[in-house]
Amino acid sequence: MSTKARTYDARVDSRVQLSPHLVRLTLAVDPAFESTGVPDEWIGLVVPGQFQSRYYTVRSCASGELVLDVVVHDQGLVTEWVALDECVGATVTVTEPKGSFAMPADASWLMLVGDLTALPAMARIAESATVPTRIWAEVPDELPGYLTERATVTWLDPPGGDGSRLAEVAQHIEWPAREGYFWMAGESAQMRAIRKHLMRDRQLPSTAYDVMGYWRASSGRQLRAVDPGPIWRAGKAAGKSDEEIWQQYDEARS
Ligand SMILES: Cc1cc2nc3c(=O)[nH]c(=O)nc-3n(C[C@H](O)[C@H](O)[C@H](O)COP(=O)(O)OP(=O)(O)OC[C@H]3O[C@@H](n4cnc5c(N)ncnc54)[C@H](O)[C@@H]3O)c2cc1C
Repeated sequence: MSTKARTYDARVDSRVQLSPHLVRLTLAVDPAFESTGVPDEWIGLVVPGQFQSRYYTVRSCASGELVLDVVVHDQGLVTEWVALDECVGATVTVTEPKGSFAMPADASWLMLVGDLTALPAMARIAESATVPTRIWAEVPDELPGYLTERATVTWLDPPGGDGSRLAEVAQHIEWPAREGYFWMAGESAQMRAIRKHLMRDRQLPSTAYDVMGYWRASSGRQLRAVDPGPIWRAGKAAGKSDEEIWQQYDEARS
């Protein structure tokens, strides 16, 4: 089985600053590009003059219009490109989308935890959810209306710098009775800590949660951006659990 993702051209039609750290790009994408419908699906984005990808959630995709919400960090390859209005009109490359959210049919609640990079996925997941949904969002900006009113949201201030205390937050969540689904994404070290907690302390089966490292705290540009797509596809083809696949992804990036 080939693990190479298909790629598509897309043109940036608009750039809207949603908040100090979040920029919305609307792209006209090749009509052959098709959403998987999985609400945390992501694409790889290659911006002009670059060959490395960075990964972004498909905030929405309909009628050839692809919407990405991009976080602007202190520095970074896509950060520097998206910070300027000149990105409008550019042709970029996007890879075929992949998603990993897999809520069991009998789940009676949903809990989502993440930072600003996970907010687009949490927004889309919550919009598609049919069970009571709680969200913990660690974000530096005010984004009224970004998350559906149907979800119960706890907004958390980031601790400053590139820090995150999401693992600690997640460890102290009061777990609802009955079966549900837990989804979490953000800084990789935090995600590793929470995976251990879910496996060892809560002894949850890997089908009850999905925890993904979306970025690694480091100084300067990320040196190794590894496409989660091929690892995901190869892992699934080999019958690995989500847990094993995301662990393998973290290792590939370290
Ligand atoms: C499946 C998946 C879905 C994702 N969805 C989104 C999304 O919808 N929107 C989005 O903005 N990001 C998303 N991300 C995260 C995004 O790919 C990374 O944050 C990426 O590193 C940003 O690229 P960059 O070129 O701006 O910075 P890079 O050149 O990669 O990194 C530059 C510097 O910024 C630091 N850095 C990177 N990310 C962060 C961060 N989040 N907070 C603080 N410092 C950081 C790095 O440690 C490095 O020092 C997703 C990642 C994955 C794997």
